[in-house]
Amino acid sequence: MSPCLLNWKTVSGMLKRMTPPKDRAVDVIILGAGMAGLAAAAKLVEAGLEVCVVEARDRIGGRVHTVHDEATPLPVELGAEFLHGKAKLTHELAHASHIPVVDVTGSHWIARDKKLSPVNDFDGKLERVMQLVAKRTQKGPDRSFDETVKGARIDPEAVGLAKSFVEGFNAATSDRISALSLTMGSEDDEKAGRVIAGYDRIASSLAAKIPAKSLRLNTVAKEVSWRKGHVTVRCVSGLGKGIGEIRAKALVVTLPLGILVTSVLEPRANDKSRDESQKKARVHFDPPLKEKKKALGLLAMGNVLRMTFRFREAFWTSAKNVGAREAPELPRLSFLHVRGGILPTWWSTYPIETPLITAWAGGPAADRLLAMKERGIIDAAMETLARAFDVKRSFVEERLERTFFHDWAADPFSRGAYSYPLVGGARAGKRLGVPIQSTLYFAGEATAVPPDNGTVHGALESGERVAREILREVRPGRSRS
Ligand SMILES: Cc1cc2nc3c(=O)[nH]c(=O)nc-3n(C[C@H](O)[C@H](O)[C@H](O)COP(=O)(O)OP(=O)(O)OC[C@H]3O[C@@H](n4cnc5c(N)ncnc54)[C@H](O)[C@@H]3O)c2cc1C
Repeated sequence: MSPCLLNWKTVSGMLKRMTPPKDRAVDVIILGAGMAGLAAAAKLVEAGLEVCVVEARDRIGGRVHTVHDEATPLPVELGAEFLHGKAKLTHELAHASHIPVVDVTGSHWIARDKKLSPVNDFDGKLERVMQLVAKRTQKGPDRSFDETVKGARIDPEAVGLAKSFVEGFNAATSDRISALSLTMGSEDDEKAGRVIAGYDRIASSLAAKIPAKSLRLNTVAKEVSWRKGHVTVRCVSGLGKGIGEIRAKALVVTLPLGILVTSVLEPRANDKSRDESQKKARVHFDPPLKEKKKALGLLAMGNVLRMTFRFREAFWTSAKNVGAREAPELPRLSFLHVRGGILPTWWSTYPIETPLITAWAGGPAADRLLAMKERGIIDAAMETLARAFDVKRSFVEERLERTFFHDWAADPFSRGAYSYPLVGGARAGKRLGVPIQSTLYFAGEATAVPPDNGTVHGALESGERVAREILREVRPGRSRS
């Protein structure tokens, strides 16, 4: 928006959301305006409670972050993109706000040795390995995915595909992720959808239910002092300036797992040895949250690399290195798996045809790429696409118009992409979500039970769960001060 188009109403509305909170008292304070925090706030406000949502960034949505760019045919997601499985609550919220969700369809392809071919029976191969994991998990104690599939008499290509899927999808390391957690869920979990108008539309639809004065952007929670029925949160501005405190009867913590871990498991005494970004979002709890230490130790924050490329044309729909029998199917390419490539997974926007293609890596592959920084990743991507479609690298580079990328691992307010359970931790998220003394409540994707952890619907449902828990304890009415 150009400054001259700002009228006073807009400016004062913006200022309200950006101005630091003066000391005040409400019923419930919510740390974080991601999907969990917004869902909790919307439900509590609807029930007549006064809330204050404290958000460190200058925007809502957290790990839902959409770029709307006039020159790009569809909004581009920097964070979450898909609705995984039933995602009942996400569908309901989208439906209620007339936000269209499109099913992901199309075909999977594999590129190896400069040859492109459809992946025959991708789901079947994955299914066979996961059935084996389920069978072996039933018989013994929880182990890692790698340990569980060791020595299996099963097609090695299927095992390779499954390992890469497990790491890519869960942002995990296959020798650390709980195999038991991978067996939780149902067949419906394979469906996927997309909010084509942008995932941020769902965040905005929730924010619209919360009074402007209840949402404090650019406000970083630093200290939480609490006792049963009383919470005081001290905050600083984005620039680190002290901006007062807020008091309430209850607190909802929706901080991402990486921030909770540094806040709860790593004592303040370590401050000197920590990097600045780690300190930025850390919250000091007094008294400390010793009840949460075990659960936090059984969960890990995973990394992903996601980069979207806008080209002049969707050149991948007409690759020459495809057999004549298969060629007519190529325009339906939705997913591309690159064997032996540094960027293993790609997807188009199919069934909507655009010149956008997204590169994705999770777990160890993401760690390697993120260490290369943005320029290095773009170079690797150009090389990967050129090899996959058997064209010159200059052919790909000449057609590249824009890239879209956010480094979630380096972002001080997320410190990673999303959580996964370590061996023995399949139910740790549930334990993380248990309230303390009817005063501290916990939501966020890491508190969801697999397979809903690490997802938007898991975060939304955890927000609604926490609102129900609070409403059983805290009555609307005069706030304590
Ligand atoms: C690249 C990427 C792709 C993904 N893809 C998908 C997908 O396709 N489908 C899917 O379902 N899920 C996906 N996810 C996961 C999904 O985005 C998250 O599970 C979900 O958005 C988490 O919501 P949340 O509310 O739990 O946490 P967050 O969105 O992280 O919200 C927490 C909020 O707390 C704020 N905060 C942090 N520290 C402080 C502090 N000290 N004081 C105040 N505020 C603070 C943060 O700024 C943030 O806004 C993806 C995530 C990433 C990163």
